[in-house]
Amino acid sequence: MQTGVFHLNTTRPDDDRELYDSTAQATDAEKLRREALERIAADWSRPWTDPLPFYRDKFAAAGLDPDHMPGLDDIPRTSKPELRTDVEAYPPLGSHRSISVEQAIRVGSSTGTTGKPWLILYSPHDLEEWIPIRLRYWWRNGLRPGGRLSHSWLMGLYSTGVLGGRDFLQLRVMEIACGPPATPADVQQHLDVWQALRPTAFMVTGSQLLTYADAAVERGFDLAELTEGTSLILSEAACQFPGPRQRVEERYGAQVRNISGASEVTGFSLSDCRFHTGLHVPIGHHFVQVCDPHTGREVAPGERGTLVVSSFGLDSYFLRYDLQDIVSLSTEPCPCGETGQRYTYLGRIGDIAEVDGRKLLPIDVQLALDNFGAPEFQMKVGSQSALSLRVETDDSAASLGGELSQILGVPVEVEAVASGTLPRATFKSRRVAS
Ligand SMILES: [Zn+2]
Repeated sequence: MQTGVFHLNTTRPDDDRELYDSTAQATDAEKLRREALERIAADWSRPWTDPLPFYRDKFAAAGLDPDHMPGLDDIPRTSKPELRTDVEAYPPLGSHRSISVEQAIRVGSSTGTTGKPWLILYSPHDLEEWIPIRLRYWWRNGLRPGGRLSHSWLMGLYSTGVLGGRDFLQLRVMEIACGPPATPADVQQHLDVWQALRPTAFMVTGSQLLTYADAAVERGFDLAELTEGTSLILSEAACQFPGPRQRVEERYGAQVRNISGASEVTGFSLSDCRFHTGLHVPIGHHFVQVCDPHTGREVAPGERGTLVVSSFGLDSYFLRYDLQDIVSLSTEPCPCGETGQRYTYLGRIGDIAEVDGRKLLPIDVQLALDNFGAPEFQMKVGSQSALSLRVETDDSAASLGGELSQILGVPVEVEAVASGTLPRATFKSRRVAS
C-alpha cells in the first residue's frame, strides 16, 4: 500500500512495549518535578508581558509582581466560575485568554452545565504539543497500530472531537467516529458498523454502554460478543477501584481503562494504565497539586484535596487553575514504569456531604454499596447529622443503614426506595440530592 507523501512516524518495531515513549515517560520523577517548576517560573511574567489583564490584576491585588515569583502555594488559584465572570465583564471572550481569535486555528467547546458554550481557542503550537500527549494516552489505553477505536463522542464543537484525528493518523489506528447513540436508529447503525469492522477499543460513557448492551439483547446477541478482548475506555470514577472495574470487565470480556481530564486546559488528557494505580498526568506541559480547598495549600500525598493544575510551555495559560475536583495523589512508583504524577479522581467539590466533621463523596457510598449488589442510590450533600441516603433496595433500611455506618464510620440514615425509582447513573451523573 502507498504510504502517501506525509512523513509518518509509524515504523516503531516494538508494539508490545509498555510505554509509548520509553525515554520521555520514564524520566526521573524528581527531575520532571524540577523541570516543571522551572518552566512554570519561566512563564511567570506572562500576565504582565502578554498581557493577560485578568491574571495581571488578580496577582497584583495579591501583592505579586512580575519580577518575583512566590512559591506555588502563595499564588492565588483561579476557578472556572471566575473565568465565566471575566467573560461576562469583558465579552465575548474575557480578558484572561492568552490565545486570540486571530492566533487560533481551531475552536472547541467544553461541555458546560450552564447552557452557554465555553469556547476554547487552540493555537498551532498547542495543537502540535497535544499530539505526543495523546499518542501516549492512547497507548496507555491499549491502542496499537492496526487497531480500531470506536467512540461515541458528541460531534460539532465538542473539544475532544475537534482535536482528534491527527493522533490516530500517526498511531495508524482506524478512528470510527460513531457519534452519540441519540436515537434507536443510531444505536442500530453503530451495532451494524461494529459487527462489520470489529473495533479493538471502545470509548463510551457508562450510560451509552448500557444503551448498546440493551439494544444488542433486543437484536438477539450479547454485546460481549463485540467487546470481548477489547479495551473499554470509560470515565466512571468507580472503575478506578477493583470491585466495580472487575464486574464491568467480566460482563464485557474487556480490559477497562479509566480516563479523565479538562478540555479547557490544553493537553490535559489523563488515563490509567493496565495496573490501575491512578490516572497518569501527561508529562511535559502540566503540573498538578492537590490542595486544601480552603487554604489552597498542598496537602500530603494520599490525602484528599482539590485538583489544581498549572500548565507550562503552551500558548494557553493556566496557572494554579482549580478544577474543583476532589482527588488524591499517588506517589509510589507505578509498575508500568511511567514516572509522572498520578492521582485518583474521587468527585466534585460540590458533592461533599459533611457528617461529624468527616467529608464523604458519592464514590465512598458507591464503593460501600458495592458489598450489597451495587444498588442505585442518591446522597444528600452538605452538612448533616447522619448521612442521608436513598437506596434502591428490598433490604431493611435500618439494617442496611447500620452496615453502611460500620463501613463509612459515620451515622447513616437509609430511605429504601423501589428499584427503578432513582435516575440511572450516566457519564456525568452526580448521584446527589438536595
Ligand atoms: Zn502506570
